Amino acid sequence: MTELPARRLLLVHAHPDDESINNGVTMARYAAEGAHVTLVTCTLGERGEVIPPGLAHLTGAALGEHRLRELTAAMRSLGVEDFRLLGGAGRFCDSGMMGLPDNDDPGCLWQADVDRAAALLVEVIREVRPQVLVTYDPDGGYGHPDHIQAHRIAMRAAELAAEAGCPIAKVYWNRVPRSVAEEAFARLDEDLPGLPFAKAAGIEDVPGVVDGERITAEIRGDGTAHADAKAAAMRAHATQITVAEPYFALSNDLAQPVFTTEYYELVRGERGFEGGRESDLFAGIGEAS
Ligand SMILES: [Zn+2]
Repeated sequence: MTELPARRLLLVHAHPDDESINNGVTMARYAAEGAHVTLVTCTLGERGEVIPPGLAHLTGAALGEHRLRELTAAMRSLGVEDFRLLGGAGRFCDSGMMGLPDNDDPGCLWQADVDRAAALLVEVIREVRPQVLVTYDPDGGYGHPDHIQAHRIAMRAAELAAEAGCPIAKVYWNRVPRSVAEEAFARLDEDLPGLPFAKAAGIEDVPGVVDGERITAEIRGDGTAHADAKAAAMRAHATQITVAEPYFALSNDLAQPVFTTEYYELVRGERGFEGGRESDLFAGIGEAS
């Protein structure tokens, strides 16, 4: 096997687009710094709503194929070469929004056995041996069944990998500090008349918002090429996202801020140092690990 770079980051997400919205700056930065960045996406988002009228005919498997092309373009923008679908493309399909009959589709991620799905992720972990894992909190950030399930699979895989002698030194959940979200939405309310979006979303629409004390790391992208890469990656997901920097909207057409600083809460492993937030997810991890 070819030797991997010293620093290796694994991100686990539910659908194509989640990685760019949540971690675009982080992925671009570590890819640019020569770290090995691996993205595992659990479904192709076949039940996502399509924004551009010209692509509205895309549903099911055809939408999944299209979204895989969007993901490929997004990864090119971020400089990430290693991106995979959990168990291969089409192994698990999108579960739809919580409470819909789609949740009962036997092939959907929500119906997947967590241990079996986690075993597929363990294969990736044993191959890549990441020191850092990034995923969602137990609510999946905002309650979507695929996000909740991605969280469960990622956390279980970390446990199973440790038992198999392949521990991950640090596990982080995606976060946004409440004060940062509040400020960004206050600015958005002022800017809204000049934006191509009719209404603003609310803070409750932003995944992973918590009090700032819980945040242990922040990756700043403001004014850097990584922020530009994030915006480009988000634009690549054109069926799902409309970008008007520094804002964007999903298919509900509700404007929300693009966060160019990305925030994390360390939930497993040791902080790189005490006091203050880490500015590097690999802080405290020795070269030898
Ligand atoms: Zn998603």
